[in-house]
Amino acid sequence: MASLMFSLLWVCNSCGGRLSDNNALLCPACLQAIHPAPPLCPSCGSPVCDRLGKCESPWLAEESSLIRSYAALYLLIEPGYSVLRAWKKRGSPIFDRQILRWDEETRRKLLETQAQAIVPIPQQIKRSWKLGRSPAEVIARWLSKNTALPMRRILRPPSRWLAGQPPRQAQRSVQERMENPLRFKAIESRIGGLTQVILVDDFMTSGRTIKAASQALGKAGIGRVDVFCLGVRPRLRRLEE
Ligand SMILES: [Zn+2]
Ligand SMILES: [Zn+2]
Repeated sequence: MASLMFSLLWVCNSCGGRLSDNNALLCPACLQAIHPAPPLCPSCGSPVCDRLGKCESPWLAEESSLIRSYAALYLLIEPGYSVLRAWKKRGSPIFDRQILRWDEETRRKLLETQAQAIVPIPQQIKRSWKLGRSPAEVIARWLSKNTALPMRRILRPPSRWLAGQPPRQAQRSVQERMENPLRFKAIESRIGGLTQVILVDDFMTSGRTIKAASQALGKAGIGRVDVFCLGVRPRLRRLEE
């Protein structure tokens, strides 16, 4: 029994390959596959605007006027995307240490925002049950620990997340998402004079969840939002337009 458990620990949590180091949950190939994100466009959050030399979605800046900056640790591109998805599904403190790698540059950038608190985007309760935790909150807590900024849960998930069994945001079609914008609510009694926050999510794909959450914060009197995500997906413009 003990040897069976031991051998299970020696398997990479992402690809299932053998591990040579029992303090790791990922094999060296998977560890190397996660791709660091470049600086993100301050207007739209895309990782490619900088390379293009201009913003690829300038209209997004206007729609999310509260958002001043975007940052992400990783690019959501294969093969690293699978590793990050495995972390979302099977996260644990040891796995967290391999994915959530702190560096001084991140601290500097986050403190430079002058935010007063770190706000995780809430997830569906059903998903939290399934995963046993909320990845966005794990990231927010990690940022809080390393910056000494408090984590504040001031967003309530959209009511239809609480009521029904909606498809996961990522599985909804683009048209469906446009027609049914997510309506987060800020919990007014918990705002307590906050005016600037760092909004945290795990994966940013279309950016619509971030935008909806920041709009709710704006309605509650918050004037500036800086976004931090674990991973950002380069937009597939032709599919989304
Ligand atoms: Zn692996
Ligand atoms: Zn841009």
